[in-house]
Amino acid sequence: MSNLYDLLASEVVDGIKEGLFTTEEYVCSVIKRIEDVESKLHSFISLDSEGAVSSAKLIDRKLREKEKIGPLCGIIVGIKDNISTKNIKTTCASKMLEDYIPPYDATVVRHMKENGAIIMGKLNLDEFGMGSTTEYSRYGPTHNPWNLDYVPGGSSGGCGAAVASGECTVSLGSDTGGSIRCPASFCSVVGLKPTYGKVSRYGLISYANSLEQIGPICRSVKDIVMIMNVISGKDMNDNTTIPSSSITINGKTKKLNVAILKELIDSCDGSVKKTIYSTAEKFKEIGCEYSEISIKNLNYALPSYYTLASAEASSNLSRYDNIRYGFDLPIDDYKWEQYFSTVRKNFGEEVKRRILIGSYVLSSGYYSKYYLKARRLRSLLRLELLTLFKQYDLFIGPTMPILPFKFGEKIDDPIKMYLVDINTVIANLASIPAVSLPVGFSNGLPIGLQMMAAPFEEQKLIDASYALENTINIRRRPNLT
Ligand code: GLN
Repeated sequence: MSNLYDLLASEVVDGIKEGLFTTEEYVCSVIKRIEDVESKLHSFISLDSEGAVSSAKLIDRKLREKEKIGPLCGIIVGIKDNISTKNIKTTCASKMLEDYIPPYDATVVRHMKENGAIIMGKLNLDEFGMGSTTEYSRYGPTHNPWNLDYVPGGSSGGCGAAVASGECTVSLGSDTGGSIRCPASFCSVVGLKPTYGKVSRYGLISYANSLEQIGPICRSVKDIVMIMNVISGKDMNDNTTIPSSSITINGKTKKLNVAILKELIDSCDGSVKKTIYSTAEKFKEIGCEYSEISIKNLNYALPSYYTLASAEASSNLSRYDNIRYGFDLPIDDYKWEQYFSTVRKNFGEEVKRRILIGSYVLSSGYYSKYYLKARRLRSLLRLELLTLFKQYDLFIGPTMPILPFKFGEKIDDPIKMYLVDINTVIANLASIPAVSLPVGFSNGLPIGLQMMAAPFEEQKLIDASYALENTINIRRRPNLT
């Protein structure tokens, strides 16, 4: 049998249930892989190898005693470190939360555990999810497994790198403006941002509530479906969720009407453009039509996103006042100077920039000029997209406008950094589902195709992704030896 860490989630579950190997053997293979490559990648902020081994032993014992284990039987999952895990440190890659141990599991984590998954540890990110490279992590960046000099994407960069390199079989990330899809694209794995309201956000440490969703990053479309069916649905603790129907892997794709978004393809790099066009041709092979369309309000997406995301962030981060969260300052002798100095010291530059921008656009006098205008533009964009979804099933384009880039290339210029999110923020603003699927390489660096569908039409994304995945067939491992 090949290395057990190399298996897909579906293969792990089958292998364990058929008795081809034990859960413990598989977990030990993944731990060995982590020992071999983690010093190069730095995907994890905290690791719980011991906990993983004892969970594996427990599952093996239950299986021997013929007890039923859920559909994720034994699979190893890494969790982005802004998703709460009971008794495991959850830092958001921030100094502010360096010692924070949540007293409860996020709903998604609870579902994963109840269905048999094993938590291996917490994965690196840009501080509080703000960034696109993991360079803003207070614990140092994660490296792209395809070329260690390059960024893995962000903010869920640890999730992308760990899954691509075999340090965990699947991972859960969060996506406020592209944080699942960007690292999925840069690391050549599959990432799905669900429709807003499909997956509970309870226990996700908030960055911008109206935009974000938790979703899976995996190496196959089938694995994405396995995870989605476990984590989605109504949650009493998040009243934006609704009951949801499960997704399936259908062998056959219904004929879908696919539209390439002209604005997205026009503005991307040559090699990315070439790959996306050749992938678009593959849609014909799977029996779909494609045409090119233009979207009027697309130019407003990025400025609206950064206005709204920063506004929500400034409000969310006000809880780190060192009374409710942060460092314990004495309540009876609370000093504002101390508050300001801890905030100054314990938030990184980018987080502080967002708080400043957010407070500015919400301040009286500027509220209607910026915040309200961004809200209106968001509605306009959503309306335009929803109208077009009456005619088209999927919108496609490159997930990222450029190939992965080297460390340090964009970090000194926030605008340059923000611009890489130009294609991904659309789905968050419109609250629609979007997937990034690996479709090729250029100079050894991965390229991802983004597909967006109407609200709660995840099944269409899965149908097209599964058919394309089988047609393109580029799944492989980076060489890390
Ligand atoms: N890069 C975007 C930002 O910094 C998106 C991040 C995310 O989706 N969490 O806001």
